[in-house]
Amino acid sequence: MVTPLWVCGQPEMTDETLVSINPADGTIAGEVCIASPRLVDQAVRATHDAWRRSDWPHRLPHERARVLVRVAERLEAERESLAELQMHDSGKPLAECRKMVTTAAGSFRFFAAVLETEETEVTPPRGSYVSMTVVEPYGVVALITPWNSPIMQEAQKAAPALATGNAVIIKPSEETPQLAFHLARICADAGVPRELVTVLPGTGETTGAALVAHPLVRMVSFTGGTETGRAIGAVCAERIIPAALELGGKSPHIVFADADLDRALDAVASGIFGSAGQSCVAGSRLLVEESIAEPFITRLAERADALRVGHPADPATQMGPLVSQHHRDRVESYIRIGLEEDGGRLRAGGVRPDDPALANGAYVRPTVIDGVSNDARCAQEEIFGPVIVCVPFRTENDLIEMANDSVYGLAAGIWSGSFDRAWRVGRAVQAGSVWINCYKQSSISSPFGGFKESGLLREKGRQGLRLYGALKSIYLGLQ
Ligand code: NAD
Repeated sequence: MVTPLWVCGQPEMTDETLVSINPADGTIAGEVCIASPRLVDQAVRATHDAWRRSDWPHRLPHERARVLVRVAERLEAERESLAELQMHDSGKPLAECRKMVTTAAGSFRFFAAVLETEETEVTPPRGSYVSMTVVEPYGVVALITPWNSPIMQEAQKAAPALATGNAVIIKPSEETPQLAFHLARICADAGVPRELVTVLPGTGETTGAALVAHPLVRMVSFTGGTETGRAIGAVCAERIIPAALELGGKSPHIVFADADLDRALDAVASGIFGSAGQSCVAGSRLLVEESIAEPFITRLAERADALRVGHPADPATQMGPLVSQHHRDRVESYIRIGLEEDGGRLRAGGVRPDDPALANGAYVRPTVIDGVSNDARCAQEEIFGPVIVCVPFRTENDLIEMANDSVYGLAAGIWSGSFDRAWRVGRAVQAGSVWINCYKQSSISSPFGGFKESGLLREKGRQGLRLYGALKSIYLGLQ
């Protein structure tokens, strides 16, 4: 069955479709209609008209909040089926997909709570006037998402955008187009005016570009690769509309000799091999103190070799496939670059699993490379797969220089028995999220985003709500 477009809550069939392939076994996961630039234009106009007529932005905050809580409840009620769908679309293990649905529901609950506790800022009377600051929704906001955690990304953007009173148009990734329809359906069932959510799948170059350029789209919230973000940011700058950009990373995972090395090893392994490395905050550069480098990398390689790569539906699976055969080709080409061009040493993986049951899927074994310097291509460029590049360091100063010698600045992990040192390094590292003696923990109440080419502005946290509205100062004259 082909899923139609979702335009202002109405299904709309088109001639052109795209097929989502299940990367676990090469079967068809689903087929969805795609929006041509002409359809994008019609859909944006319809969504904008609906928004202008809607009472949604004018409802009391607690009324909108109540609806958002209902969205969360319905997401939770449908957790199993949504997680399965995401598993088929993306190849992520089922347990990870379940967590992502829970996180998606958490976004709606969190922004409902923020909305209810937001207070209008009022300045004290200044002789002849008082002033207050209100937040106005932008109108139609485009939410453009990647494939690595679709339901979570879509909810993380839609919840604050709707909370602020906007209408949203979701452009899901062409690799994982199916979840957004369900989010739209659930929003409508929960009481968000159905005409305020539109879903337009299609390719980035055609559908996405038409959306970003459309004059009635007044803000763009994008998560994806840095080069795409640069292109979208340039169009938004030209149009003078805000763009929130959550982009790529090459995050250093730092291990000092005085750390709890067992815990550090667990975190380094799950930090890169979790989600098969397809996480923007994957700890893909291990920077390890020279005195312990060899034994630590040996243990990491043993851990990688022991990881059970398998079908995402199998509860025993520790690492599933990559999102597509095409993406596996890219990851494998980086492994070759690491070994041939950069002269690295393969410590684990580098090959496809030999299990014949996995032959039709996009699998690659967890891979550990060392013997390269921090300026090697494999240590600088985002691979977005289960490949960790290990570089030893001697002194704290060398380490900080190396950690920051990257165009990216999304995240960093630091393992040390000395809190003073970990704190010092944590403050010196240019990264939007720093984990000390833990890794990849995530809270909706903490802002998230990148330094340098990892992004612009911050999602999540209380101020994540402000991202989706323009501040307006209103002055009241006093007699
Ligand atoms: P991508 O940049 O290829 O695509 C992301 C989205 O942008 C897709 O929906 C795509 O269709 C669309 N797109 C592509 N070109 C476009 C254009 N010109 N105009 C408008 N839309 C366009 O990224 P991807 O391969 O889907 O995802 C992987 C990347 O996402 C990695 O670099 C990863 O680090 C990054 N990511 C970042 C975060 C974060 O929060 N910082 C989170 C997850 C993923």
